[in-house]
Order: sequence, then structure tokens, then C-alpha cells
Amino acid sequence: MLEEIVDRLEAGGGLGKDELAALLLSDDCAGIDYLKRRARYAADCIYGKNIYIRGLIEFTSYCRNNCYYCGIRCGNAKAQRYRLTQEQIMECCKSGYALGFRTFVLQGGEDEFFTEKRICSIVYGIKSQFPDCAVTLSIGEKSRSNYQAYFGAGADRYLLRHETANQEHYERLHPKELCLENRKKCLYDLKEIGYQVGAGFMVGSPFQTFDTIYEDLQFIRELEPHMVGIGPFIPHKDTPFANACAGTLEMTLRLLSIIRLMHPRVLLPATTALGTIHPMGRELGIKAGANVVMPNLSPVEVREKYQLYNNKICMGNEAAEGLRNLRNRMTEIGYQIVTDRGDFRRE
Ligand code: SAM
Repeated sequence: MLEEIVDRLEAGGGLGKDELAALLLSDDCAGIDYLKRRARYAADCIYGKNIYIRGLIEFTSYCRNNCYYCGIRCGNAKAQRYRLTQEQIMECCKSGYALGFRTFVLQGGEDEFFTEKRICSIVYGIKSQFPDCAVTLSIGEKSRSNYQAYFGAGADRYLLRHETANQEHYERLHPKELCLENRKKCLYDLKEIGYQVGAGFMVGSPFQTFDTIYEDLQFIRELEPHMVGIGPFIPHKDTPFANACAGTLEMTLRLLSIIRLMHPRVLLPATTALGTIHPMGRELGIKAGANVVMPNLSPVEVREKYQLYNNKICMGNEAAEGLRNLRNRMTEIGYQIVTDRGDFRRE
């Protein structure tokens, strides 16, 4: 039964609501193993045994937004705030480049200090010094003209998880100033401008249901992003969702596999959050069809301050040590971290 659903999915036949529920709920171990193996095979056919790394630079923990799930929300008075200077960001890139990183991801809260001009200057600086590298931005909802300007300065990719494609669910995760319609519009603007775009959502976020996940998959199908970031929701003690349950490893793995089969070419990270809820989370993510990992390149002294959720991994590891560990862990499961921009493969 599960095998038939998986075969149909692999053949491009899509997924009904009942079939999604069957895949997410089933305790048929052989069927679920088949789902993960087919997803891994689909990734192997396009990206082989290569695992792409992205150097994550968390350059500001200031945020004007107050998302109920996020540890750096502006309403969290206990959050420690910091900003990296352009020089510090360039230092992160320099050490990352020497380690073999060819993509740098600049991620942060929506921090108004980083005006269009400042972001363009940072992007331009990185692209001038490291022309063979890709720059990914993950700095939230901006105007179309901002996105156009960053693109003009050399930004290649943009990560903006849609968080949930269901209107009511969106309203239960965000304050009223934020709206799903604008989030979606940003994603379409980014795509039209020419970015490689990443959407995504948290698995097991409060009030998530099979119906909302079904809508997430439909939205992803419609948008056709180049990347999909999904990872478990993990509560943060100083947010309104402090006592909510975390998303599970198993649900995240099954969704990674489903997304891989629906979008064989998509760049799919085994996220830090997945590595946080289980010691082998990232390896299991790769085995379920993921092909990207995003080690932290931020200076060790600021990492504690970028706490989106509690118990985040790799807080104290120097970038070089963290990468060495990861390289060994990937080799042990038969995969190799490569020095490559790791662009989306159209064909
Ligand atoms: N401000 C940018 C934005 O809105 O896209 C980027 C930074 S934001 C903190 C990056 C992502 O972290 C969000 O898209 C969200 O899915 C994830 N995140 C935030 N809080 C989380 C939590 N408690 N558990 C897991 N992921 C979380």
C-alpha cells in the first residue's frame, strides 16, 4: 500500500490528502524504509553522493518582528542582541573560503540598521573578494526594489521560509502586522527577479495539522522553489510557545523524503534543528534525501546570542573543527562534502 503511493509519487503522480496522512502516520516500517530509500535514490540520480555545504553567517540578532515561535523576536527582552561589522563578516568568509566553502548565507533578524545600502555593500564586498562563491541572503520580507538592489549587487539566492501556507495557521504563529499574502508575494518577487529561491516551514509547529502540511506541499508545488528548508520546530523558553511540543525526527524525515520525491532536483538541507533534536539527525536527513548541510561560520563568541530555539548544536565548535567532524560523519555514511557552489541543477 505505502509502496504504491511512493511509486506514484516518484512517477510524478502527486499526493492526495489521505495518501499524505498515510505516509506521515503509518507504522509500516518496510513501507517507510522504501519511501526513504526511493527519495535517497532520487537525490543520488541528480546530485550523486555529493553533499553541498553552506557557510552560515548569523550577522544580526536584532529583529523588528515578533513571531511567536522565535527566540530572537523583538518581544524577547532576554535575547542578547549583536551585529557583526562588515569587516567581521568578511573575516568569516575568508576563513570559510580557506575551509572549502563556496556559498555564504547571510542570515539575520529583520534589522533596520542594515539598510539597502549596507546590505548591497556587504554583498558586493563578498562577491568582489570571492567571485567564485554564491551569496545567499536570508533577511526576511523586504520591498521588491530592495530585492532588486541586492540582486544587482551580486546576491545569488534568497531563503525565505513561507512558514505555513494556511492563512489561519499563519495568524496563529505571527502577530497581526505580518501576513501570509505578503510573505508569498516576496517569494514570487524574488523568483521573478532571478534569484534561486528557498521556501519552507517548521515541522510540528504549534497548530500544524495534516491539512496545513498538505497546503504547504501544494504551495511548494505551485512556487517551484530551488531550495526547500524544513526542520523541526523546537520551543524556546522565552517565547509564547515555551511549553509547546517540538516537532519529531520521524515526521521531519518523512517530509524530507516526500519533498525529494515531489521535487527531485530541489536543494534540500538537513538542518541544524534536525541535528539538534537527534544526535544523528543530519545523517538521517541525508539518508532520507537531503543533500545540503549548513555549518555555522559565525564567530564563536556570538553564537550563543543567535538562539532561535533552545539547545542549538555546534555552539562552541570552531568552524574548522565543526567542518572536520561533519566531513567524517558524512564519509561514514558514504557521502562526501564537496568544494562547490552547489547550484540548483536545471538538467
Ligand atoms: N528573518 C529571516 C526570515 O524571516 O526569514 C531569517 C531569520 S529566521 C530566524 C529563520 C528561520 O528560523 C525562520 O524561517 C523559522 O522557520 C526558523 N525558526 C525560528 N524559530 C524557530 C524555532 N523555535 N524552531 C525551529 N525553527 C525556528
